[in-house]
Amino acid sequence: MAPERDPRRLIPRTDALLRHPAITPWLTSVDAMRVRGEIRRAQQRARRGDLAPEDIPAAIADALRGLASHPSGWEPVINATGVIVHTNLGRAALGEPARQALADSAGYVPVEMDMRAGVRSRRRGAEATQALLDACPAAEAALVVNNGAAALLLSTAALAGAGRDVIISRGELIEIGAGFRLPELIESTGVRLKEVGATNRTHSRDYEEAISPQAGALLKVHPSNYRVQGFHSEVSVAELAEIARRHQLPLIMDAGSGLLHPEPLLPEEPDATTLLRAGADLVLASGDKLLGGPQAGIILGRAEIIARLARHPLARAVRTNKSTLAALHATLSAPAAEVPVRASLHADPAELKTRCERIAAELAGLVAGIEVCPHEGRVGGGGAPGVPLPGWALRLPEWAAAPLRTGTPPVLGRIHQGACLLDLRCVPPQQDEEILHAVRRVLNARAGEEAAQPHRDHDPEEPPCPS
Ligand SMILES: *Cc1c(COP(=O)(O)O)cnc(C)c1O
Repeated sequence: MAPERDPRRLIPRTDALLRHPAITPWLTSVDAMRVRGEIRRAQQRARRGDLAPEDIPAAIADALRGLASHPSGWEPVINATGVIVHTNLGRAALGEPARQALADSAGYVPVEMDMRAGVRSRRRGAEATQALLDACPAAEAALVVNNGAAALLLSTAALAGAGRDVIISRGELIEIGAGFRLPELIESTGVRLKEVGATNRTHSRDYEEAISPQAGALLKVHPSNYRVQGFHSEVSVAELAEIARRHQLPLIMDAGSGLLHPEPLLPEEPDATTLLRAGADLVLASGDKLLGGPQAGIILGRAEIIARLARHPLARAVRTNKSTLAALHATLSAPAAEVPVRASLHADPAELKTRCERIAAELAGLVAGIEVCPHEGRVGGGGAPGVPLPGWALRLPEWAAAPLRTGTPPVLGRIHQGACLLDLRCVPPQQDEEILHAVRRVLNARAGEEAAQPHRDHDPEEPPCPS
């Protein structure tokens, strides 16, 4: 191409863009370095041929508008998938009290201050700890760390550091997601894992035979995200506790999901109260799974062992921040209806159906084939795999999924058997109106396109409701 015809010569210079009327309005609401970053990226896209030079100012203005309207860098998503602890959407959604707690704790708060005496105090996690102990009186003490993985790292390092053994069944050497494997995590601090039993069967004598003077702790892990069926056996927490007691070793139970007491809807899911009563010395759980709080690692159990953990040098590296403590405290102190995970888990199917029907009635006539179908929600986040949560969904044509996902607000549905399903289980009822508007906008836009292009191929007949 002749140089004078090369569109790259038309790419505006940075100083010209900084004076462009589409961009100047944003210069007071976005950091100057971030503005230059957006400019540089738009120029690079144009050089690569991914953006027309004349579209550069608008592209930069769009990016800056996004930065100004969503300082978090994220646009809140309406989760219409029916998956409660949605890993790709940040796991548990916080309720109003926890959101308020995040806002309150954003400023100065007396984290290490005794306000009555006016002197420095020990770092306070005491409010959140107290709330945990109220929720789980079977525990003598509690410690909150950064996440579940940190709880596992700290407890194994503190109880079996310096080359001692943690004894674990081969049936529990799990990968928790994103390629992270618990055994590798534990060994990363120099703790030695002593694997016992076979993938499908481990017996109490396997643990007994593995206990040597080097033993530091027994560990049992709930394999959250998968199930073994068939020729399978494992040693119960009560039996393990008996072995641990006889050998004066601590028993750590990594429960994963974060239930503090039994949940009748999820009978297979372990909970801290039952595990501690069965004799576990420490129970580990994640704050942002079924507990419904912020990302946190929760350690519950015997006071003397938790004190050892708190004194270990790693405790400082995995300690949690003031906002997490505040949101956890608020989640544990709020009534169940204000904790979205609990509200979603216990959502009444009849009510979900009525809400879907109300939206469907408003949409009648906009597109053929909108129906309300039975749909099963899921716990998600590795919890209760295979346990269906009966409910309902609004069934739309599959092509609606992409524009719903990229609209404002973004609505994430489930694409299944050629349809886009919107399950309202995890949608607060006050957002039904937003869903209705979003769907109507998408259907109207499509109708407009079809009117403009009468020759366009029509979609094949919509499939019936998935079974
Ligand atoms: C989820 C899970 C973890 C990891 O917890 P994070 O909070 O994600 O770090 C560890 N163990 C089990 C059994 C889990 O289910």
